[in-house]
Amino acid sequence: MAKSAHEETTTDRDPETALETARHQLERAAAHVDVDEGVVERLKHPTKVLSGSIPLERDDGTVEVFTGYRAQHDDVRGPYKGGLRYHPDVTEDECVGLAMWMTWKCAVMDLPFGGAKGGIVADPKELSEDERERLTRRFAEEMRDFVGPTRDIPAPDMGTDAQTMAWFMDAYSMQEGETVPGVVTGKPPLIGGSYGREEAPGRSVAIVTREAANYYDLSLDDATVAVQGFGSVGANAARLLDEWGATVVAVSDINGGVYDPDGLATREISAHDEQPEAVMGTDAGSTLTNAELLELDVDILVPAAVGNVLTEDNAAAVQADIVVEGANGPTTTAADRIFAEREVAVIPDIIANAGGVTVSYFEWLQDINRRQWTVERVREELESEMLSAWDDVRREFEARDVTWRDAAYIVGLSRVAEAKSTRGLWP
Ligand code: NAD
Repeated sequence: MAKSAHEETTTDRDPETALETARHQLERAAAHVDVDEGVVERLKHPTKVLSGSIPLERDDGTVEVFTGYRAQHDDVRGPYKGGLRYHPDVTEDECVGLAMWMTWKCAVMDLPFGGAKGGIVADPKELSEDERERLTRRFAEEMRDFVGPTRDIPAPDMGTDAQTMAWFMDAYSMQEGETVPGVVTGKPPLIGGSYGREEAPGRSVAIVTREAANYYDLSLDDATVAVQGFGSVGANAARLLDEWGATVVAVSDINGGVYDPDGLATREISAHDEQPEAVMGTDAGSTLTNAELLELDVDILVPAAVGNVLTEDNAAAVQADIVVEGANGPTTTAADRIFAEREVAVIPDIIANAGGVTVSYFEWLQDINRRQWTVERVREELESEMLSAWDDVRREFEARDVTWRDAAYIVGLSRVAEAKSTRGLWP
């Protein structure tokens, strides 16, 4: 299995956990919204967390028992939705924090879903393909009463991919006695996956970057951009921005990057899935480190690799006027404060990379209707959903003296809180 980009989500210097960050952001947003305290209290906790053991027969005949989780944060707006990750550092708390993020991401996009996240504490690189298949099928069985197209719909995440989703869907369908493609998203298009799903998070990053530039009267034709991470999100975003007229001066992978002040030919640099970690081998411009890339004198910086790369140690040295979060959680809370003081516009992950969950929603619609959309239709509908979410966030940003992140959280929290108040508390 290809090395995942999500492998460094925290650093020792900045040990804020996903759950701490998520609760902190909820409190910040709640301070701006007229929302019942009881609702905020409920939203600090997940509705349910499934924790289970998954026995796996290894290829050598021995049995190993793994631990798996599924945290369901809130489903007031619709079924739970969120990724399944296979990683040695998966914890229950991390799943809860990431599930909360999914609640806001779905709400800010106005998708009829709530937030969930799950995973297995395992290193997929240490398992054979057959072992990963058996582990996935057994996990699907343990989760069977918990998931379903109207209950909770997993998707790929760190260490899992379209094939994992195909096994999950097959295991679930076999037990249900019918083919249920809508139980997961991110499947191969052949069995109910959506065209355009893979490129979607990068495409949404590019759309949001274009809108943010436009908001600050910066024409893409005049804009310089640096992109950290040249994987699914970074490469798709960089190539689209390049196509739309921006000058992409630097891109990088885990080993470092390349820089050309006149602009790089982004299509000629191999993305992570085309040839892993090939950026430094590109015959273009000069080389630079990831740390240098983040501090380049550019108009727009797109951190699209891993979490916690913009910290209190480098936030003051970032020269970009606009930061668009392609990765999940690239900016620590301390860095966020510094950017706010310096009036650097940070467009948050929960809108910028939300193209992934949005096209997952399209996939779910296609599965329910048993009708596949063309990639052109997917792109058109994604564009329209992104513009609508951007407008909602922009309106809050303009109406209140808040950061873009706070504005996005206010939109998400208001929608969830209003749905909760309208439905009431049972019994
Ligand atoms: P990917 O595996 O396709 O690519 C990751 C890229 O980042 C690679 O070029 C890799 O070399 C580079 N990288 C890894 N560690 C690095 C480091 N420490 N410093 C600099 N570069 C590093 O991953 P992806 O799917 O593009 O995901 C990137 C980020 O976007 C992650 O934070 C992920 O959670 C987030 N994200 C992904 C999706 C999705 O559907 N792919 C959706 C939303 C958010």
